[in-house]
Amino acid sequence: VMSVDNVVIVGAGVAGASAAYHLSFAGVKNVVVLDCGTAGHGSLTPVKDCTKTEEQEEGSVFQFAHRSGSAVMPSASTIKMIVRLFASSATDFIEHHGIEGAKKYIKITTSGLETEKEIASSILPNAAEQLRAFGSLYLAYEKDEAEFRKEFDILKEIGCDDIEWWEKDQLLITPGCSKKFHCGIFFPKDAIINSSVYSAALLSAATAMGAVRVVENCSPVVSVSTIPASQATCPSSFGEDETVGLTVLQDGTRMESRHIVLATGGLFTNDPNLSGIVRPCWSYLVSVPHPETTEETLDANSATFSDGVPKFSMNFFSWGFTHDWSWTEGAVRISGEDHFSALKPPRAPQRCQNLAHWTQEAYGDVFPTPEAETVPYEWQYGVYSETPDSVPVVGRTSDSSKVCYLLGCNAWGQAVLSYTATLVPGLLGYTPMTEEQSDLFELVSVRRFALLPSVLEGCK
Ligand SMILES: Cc1cc2nc3c(=O)[nH]c(=O)nc-3n(C[C@H](O)[C@H](O)[C@H](O)COP(=O)(O)OP(=O)(O)OC[C@H]3O[C@@H](n4cnc5c(N)ncnc54)[C@H](O)[C@@H]3O)c2cc1C
Repeated sequence: VMSVDNVVIVGAGVAGASAAYHLSFAGVKNVVVLDCGTAGHGSLTPVKDCTKTEEQEEGSVFQFAHRSGSAVMPSASTIKMIVRLFASSATDFIEHHGIEGAKKYIKITTSGLETEKEIASSILPNAAEQLRAFGSLYLAYEKDEAEFRKEFDILKEIGCDDIEWWEKDQLLITPGCSKKFHCGIFFPKDAIINSSVYSAALLSAATAMGAVRVVENCSPVVSVSTIPASQATCPSSFGEDETVGLTVLQDGTRMESRHIVLATGGLFTNDPNLSGIVRPCWSYLVSVPHPETTEETLDANSATFSDGVPKFSMNFFSWGFTHDWSWTEGAVRISGEDHFSALKPPRAPQRCQNLAHWTQEAYGDVFPTPEAETVPYEWQYGVYSETPDSVPVVGRTSDSSKVCYLLGCNAWGQAVLSYTATLVPGLLGYTPMTEEQSDLFELVSVRRFALLPSVLEGCK
């Protein structure tokens, strides 16, 4: 099978689906989106743990190893946080990227958050349920107050004009806030979204504009590269001096296109440019339901309390990023990251049990004391991608390359990827880049990895 398209987008998570949406909006035709799983979910193909013997085999399949970072849990589903924060502290980020870099990052995430909220409210099938903009509360213990104050001052200085310092008394009257914390920084604009539904809705909107074709459950893409037009199957489709993007699937399918956008999250490890730059990380989601919450007491559309149990809350995260969580449908949905396992089997059951215990402790006054060691909970894990400097890898390594990267984030990929996807029509030359776009692009450009052979090659 052979086809010539303008753009082949690999990956239909929030990043790839957003890129497809912005390209259609810019009037680009013949765009194809490939995903070896389904839009916003990734693939559920289990991966076997080869370190186990046959007898140990049962139960050693990594059930969600190919689950995308955009996926949410089937129950307690409206749960992806769109936040503006750094994945580390502002101080850490500034040490590496400088004040100017930090200001750019905040501009990017602020704009990404606004863009995502705006598009989401117009395309989500049920926006009131799938997008909740209650804000986020960053929380610290009493012992960390002085350091946390400094963080607040820095965040203000680098462009978070709207954030507020909250004292203990305000935390105590905040629905769903754990009483263990002493002070907080409130981000009023942050939101929670069902990013699986959002990705699918972006693609429906793009498809409806008539320019985008979506191929789900395709054979996995195994390589993306740039070839001279003379080597194309159909050289006459391209100009003589043009280069062509070649996408090869595991089943042997070759697709030739004017551009490729690689938006595969943490799951694509075959590109030599990415090895050493993009590291797959596991993230866990645990949903701990309040035991006394019954179906009848839950009103799907209410953000208020029922039987003293919060139904929905804003996002919470703790200083140092040990935990992030929110109440959704009467359960605490909490997540944690594993930056160390990469492609090793993750120790999911232990990690999830720890998260469930932490939750029970943080809400000791709300949850009844557990009778047994174990806390009942639902869980899943998925993969996201992390870069050494915590910002995504975007754009092409050289002007002649046809592969445009749009991946690699940090645990807070939604806002940053939603912004960087808006750059794609400009990066592929379909629309002019504004001065601000070019300026912000510098922070995330793949060319910052100046010693990559393909970047050096392009500089010659
Ligand atoms: C459990 C978990 C919770 C998270 N929670 C948050 C959160 O609350 N807030 C936040 O901002 N971020 C969160 N993240 C980070 C998250 O990864 C990003 O926010 C974002 O959703 C990533 O989107 P993406 O499109 O880059 O990647 P993904 O959503 O991972 O999408 C990549 C897609 O590419 C496809 N693909 C991959 N390889 C191939 C191939 N070879 N061939 C064809 N298709 C391929 C996959 O099937 C998948 O659909 C979380 C991540 C995880 C794992």
